[in-house]
Parts: sequence; C-alpha cells; structure tokens
Amino acid sequence: YSASSCYLATFQGSMTCFSWKLIWKNWAPPRVKFFHWLASQDRCWTADRLARRGLQHQPRCPLCDQAPETMRHLLLECPFARQTWHEILSWLW
Ligand SMILES: [Zn+2]
Repeated sequence: YSASSCYLATFQGSMTCFSWKLIWKNWAPPRVKFFHWLASQDRCWTADRLARRGLQHQPRCPLCDQAPETMRHLLLECPFARQTWHEILSWLW
C-alpha cells in the first residue's frame, strides 16, 4: 500500500478523456483555446443558456433566423457556420 497506489485505485474503471489535449495543446491563440473550452463545457452565453437562467434572449439565431440559438447550432448546424467551415476546409486543402 502507498499513497500513489491508493490515488491510482480511485481511477480504476474510469474512462480517460483526452479532449483537454485537443483544446489546450495546439497552436491556436489563447482566446480561441478559451472559447473552445467554454463551448465544450456549454458555457457560452447562447440564447438557450440565457433562457435557462431566465434572462432576455432572442428566440432565433441572429445569423439565419431559422432555428433556436444553441452552441451546436452556431458551430455546426447554422448555414453561416457551414459556409464558414466549408471556406476554411477548402482553404486548407
Ligand atoms: Zn443560424
């Protein structure tokens, strides 16, 4: 028995997640890393989060006016986001 073995035993059966490495160990500027971290924690002040807190919010995405503003919508589903990702990926290829 040692303190080290006891510490390691507390994680037995748990899953290791390396998403922190994707967020923090890259070449992106710190503000982008911080935004990525906030988005991964669903901590950005999108309309759905404002609504959960009872704060004033817009009912629909201000970019496309087609769907409720959520983090998933803003980053993946919004037509403007899709166009942006398309431009970025075509620029990288
Ligand atoms: Zn949208």
